Amino acid sequence: MELLNIKNLDLVEKKVFIRCDFNVPMDEFGNISDDRRIRAALSTINFCLDQDCAVILASHLGRPKGQVVEKYSLIPVARRLQQLLKREVTLAGDVVGPDAIEKASKLEKHKILLLENLRFEAGETEDDKELSKKLASMAEFYINDAFGVSHRAHSSVHGITKFFDDKHRAAGFLLQREIQFFGKLMKEPTRPFAAIVGGSKVSGKLEALTNLLPRVDKIFIGGGMAFTFLKQMGYNIGSSLVENDLLDDAQHVMDEAKKLGVKFYLPVDVIAAEKFAADAVSKIVTAQEIPDNWMGLDIGPATVRLYREGLNDVQTVLWNGPMGVYEMEKFARGSSKIAHFVADSYATTVVGGGDTADLVQRVGVDEEMSFISTGGGASLELLEGKILPGVESLIILED
Ligand code: AMP
Repeated sequence: MELLNIKNLDLVEKKVFIRCDFNVPMDEFGNISDDRRIRAALSTINFCLDQDCAVILASHLGRPKGQVVEKYSLIPVARRLQQLLKREVTLAGDVVGPDAIEKASKLEKHKILLLENLRFEAGETEDDKELSKKLASMAEFYINDAFGVSHRAHSSVHGITKFFDDKHRAAGFLLQREIQFFGKLMKEPTRPFAAIVGGSKVSGKLEALTNLLPRVDKIFIGGGMAFTFLKQMGYNIGSSLVENDLLDDAQHVMDEAKKLGVKFYLPVDVIAAEKFAADAVSKIVTAQEIPDNWMGLDIGPATVRLYREGLNDVQTVLWNGPMGVYEMEKFARGSSKIAHFVADSYATTVVGGGDTADLVQRVGVDEEMSFISTGGGASLELLEGKILPGVESLIILED
């Protein structure tokens, strides 16, 4: 899938609207605790500035739900952007109100205007046409570089694209990279290709698992979702997380894997705890011996060894979802060991966004991975084989 390329646009001295994803985590004092998403947007912004453009930036932050909520203002983002770009960044007082419209219309080349939080406007998440039209009216060109939100049909990622033709809209560098990476992974991965799939529930990953099955050589299951499979296989899983309504689906996945010759790995031991708590009493037990009322909160050491053996010869690894409750130190070991192993391997290593990206960063191996997606939900939808609403109109149609 090829996308309209920013490099093919005639941007020189034009006014450009760039939809970014500046939805960064903040601490309780409103300080940005991780600015990777802002830094990831810099190459597209700098490219436009190098073309002598006037640049209008827009993003959402948090969920203000259509209200102006002070703690979701983009003031800290404007400040950080200014530091990183080493240029003045003007923050508009609103999104499409008089201040934003006036500042956008007077914006000169090399100047940067950041609109206030798009979700201060209720229409943003409703894909409201009027809002899209107002946003589009500010600029001659539209660039989408907000991969993390491209799976949402929102005004600034979906509706707005209708107001620009193919010579006036394109994907930014970040969006291009994400789509290309996942595209190659799904179409022509270097084999053997393994997927490590974890996280809390089967339901959240069922579509991705189904879509991955015909493409991968091996699947390694971890996290809470493993217990639905183990239960279906007849094990006693105590009070571990389980989705009883998905037992048949779990069986279907295992049957399909067998049919397709995909090696399907499940945990052989777990760290079981008496309760879901950081200070819970815990012990290592085999998958066959989870005591009643105990819950599995991480994969055990034998599983780590087994998964390492299985991963030894793979050339491509896709990892989506932690192996255990990694937020609690006691149940983070399985994820951490797998993270180190994957990071040290010579395979191409691709990490889905969200929790898994957070996990590899905590473990300190993020630099070692080949690619870490900036979007959890969006990358999952790509793995499910979907076309993202924010990407749809940026695809170059083949004759
Ligand atoms: P997801 O959003 O589905 O990728 O799930 C991520 C969450 O799964 C993390 O917050 C983990 O704490 C949680 N998780 C991982 N393993 C388990 C487990 N064995 N039991 C309960 N929750 C888990």
